[in-house]
Parts: sequence; C-alpha cells; structure tokens
Amino acid sequence: MRAIHTDRSLSHFGERPSGSRVSTLVIHAMYDFAGDSTNAGDCIRVLDENTVSAHFLISRRGKVIQLIPESKRAWHAGESRMPDSMGAAHGVNDFSIGIELIARDHETFTGSQYRALGELTSGLCSRHPIQFLVGHEDIAIPKGRKSDPGERFDWYRYRQSLAEAGTDVSRLTFRDDTSR
Ligand SMILES: [Zn+2]
Repeated sequence: MRAIHTDRSLSHFGERPSGSRVSTLVIHAMYDFAGDSTNAGDCIRVLDENTVSAHFLISRRGKVIQLIPESKRAWHAGESRMPDSMGAAHGVNDFSIGIELIARDHETFTGSQYRALGELTSGLCSRHPIQFLVGHEDIAIPKGRKSDPGERFDWYRYRQSLAEAGTDVSRLTFRDDTSR
C-alpha cells in the first residue's frame, strides 16, 4: 500500500450536506503557472491563493498528498453539473472527491502518476460508493469554463491502472464510456 502524506495548510473547505455520500471522483490537472509547477508546495500555495482546494494532490513522481479529509467538502469543482448520462446533479463538490495531478506543459502525465492514481482510486472505491469518474472539464458550468485534465490525460490508461490495483472497473462509469 502506497504511503499517503498529509498537508493540512489549506483552509478552503467545509462540511458536506448531511446524509451525502461520495458517488463521484473528479480528476483535475494543474498546468504550468508562475512558480515551479512541479513543486508540490508551490501547487498547494497556488490553490490557497485561489481560495480553492482538492482532497488529494499527486506529484510528477507519484507522491500522494492528502490536503482535505475525505469526509469534508473540498472546493475543487466550482459551479458544476454532472453530465446528463450521470444524473445531471448540480453542486458536484457536495458528493465528490477531487484529485489534482501536477501537470507540465508539453509533457504527458507520468507512469508514476497513473500508478499512484490507480492505487489511490482503488482505496477510495473501497471506502465510498463511487460510481462515476469524470474530469473537471466534463462538469464545469458554463460548458468550456474549465479544460482540465485535458486531452493529455489518458482515461484508458487510468482505467488500466485502476484494474491493476485490484478494482473491478466494470462496475464504474467513466466519462468516456460513450465513446469507447
Ligand atoms: Zn480543475
């Protein structure tokens, strides 16, 4: 089991509505910004400055850092709505867990990141009734407001890494299921 590091410096989160269950995972990517986008500390600072948060951050080397407890409502999706095929519910932060991948312009995500993401997701699926896996770009409203994780994120590879981590992926609905 991969070690999960913790950083509790972010304060931008709150309580989930009572009775809510985590049904959805939202994948995000932080691309190059002013500062060192490969440095987890700089990424956490940028989240803080933008008054947002995510539950987890995955470094280029596959280090997993938990920023917000899974039971809390992180501020990662913003104005959002699930795709019609996934129920079209608004306010995705209420019922989701957000994972930020550290990205680099002109580079693909690393094998270490896919392995870490697969193992992390596998654990999350064992603790929550997760059904849907989407990207921020799929749920942000108005449509086109967000473009992460973007075309460089390989959903097929994500699915493979999750299966390799021992999760039955046939029970899950991925954002691209309609196109494959
Ligand atoms: Zn995002």
